[in-house]
Amino acid sequence: MSNAASSPLPLRPRIHVLATGGTIAGAHTGGAPGSYRSATLSIETLVGAVPQIAEMADLALEQVAQVGSQDMDDALWLELARRAGAALAPPGVAGLVITHGTDTMEETAYFLSLAVKTTKPMVLVGAMRPANAISADGPMNLYNAIAVACDPGATSQGALVVANDEIHHARAVSKTNTTQVGTFHSINQGLAGLVNQGRVHWFGPAGTQHTLASEFSADARSTLPRVEIVFAHAGMDRTLIDAAVAAGAEGIVIAGVGSGNLHALARTAAAEAAAKGICIVRASRTGGGMVERSVEVDDDRFGFVAAGDLNPQKARVLLKLALTRTHSPALIQEMFDRY
Ligand code: GLU
Repeated sequence: MSNAASSPLPLRPRIHVLATGGTIAGAHTGGAPGSYRSATLSIETLVGAVPQIAEMADLALEQVAQVGSQDMDDALWLELARRAGAALAPPGVAGLVITHGTDTMEETAYFLSLAVKTTKPMVLVGAMRPANAISADGPMNLYNAIAVACDPGATSQGALVVANDEIHHARAVSKTNTTQVGTFHSINQGLAGLVNQGRVHWFGPAGTQHTLASEFSADARSTLPRVEIVFAHAGMDRTLIDAAVAAGAEGIVIAGVGSGNLHALARTAAAEAAAKGICIVRASRTGGGMVERSVEVDDDRFGFVAAGDLNPQKARVLLKLALTRTHSPALIQEMFDRY
């Protein structure tokens, strides 16, 4: 005989949510069509708009910040990493979801993947349209992010990004479009998985070291080394590299043309900086492919590091963390090969 009516509700996983703002918490507040203010609504309001989430998970909600992700900085990254670690520490917590603006989500995700010590799911989620836009994408993205955080397949994957029914590894994902809901792409390595209305499908593990296998930590740090990105172009000279050195950069990422190339004038400035102990990493402005050592630029001669398939903004994240451990270009090159 069925006793369904008196059965207790099945135990739901406990998921911690850290909110930081972004367009997922944004609202059109009048004015020009399409204009809006990001980081306006509380996490309680966002979750309250998706009552189906309560059937899936028990949530603990924590508002860490309320910013557009263009305002993310080192202090907030360090704070977020510490809060993420603390939130995931209790044995009863199954996973973590972080709401975040999409502009710099890939950088925060990669930072957390390298700085938080956990095997538990850590899922970043945002939206391209504000919460009160026509066909807002935030509610389904949030629902799917919670589903991914509840899923055992998200264990030991490092940080993940969920949007537009897709699951991306932190290291692989990049924002590629200013407005479309399908803005995120994992360009070189492909998707971690798909999530359709809470149903999760996995395609493969993260290919590089992260979380427990990472040597980096946010603990006991209040700052990170200064690293600038210099964008290469036809007609480039040495001005911006010299400016970065003068500003006190410990590292410079070149968003190089093609496979991390830069004009001879800029290369001379970069080699002079490297000789002074400033770490020069060559990445590519193209958005895809590898920057390998010593193809057109003699990295051994100039003391440069090749970024592999990390885009310039992610190369900057890794270089900041790397410089907390060493200033040796050879050791930093190994880190770029490993993380
Ligand atoms: N600037 C906003 C942010 O990154 C807009 C992007 C978004 O969240 O979709 O927070």
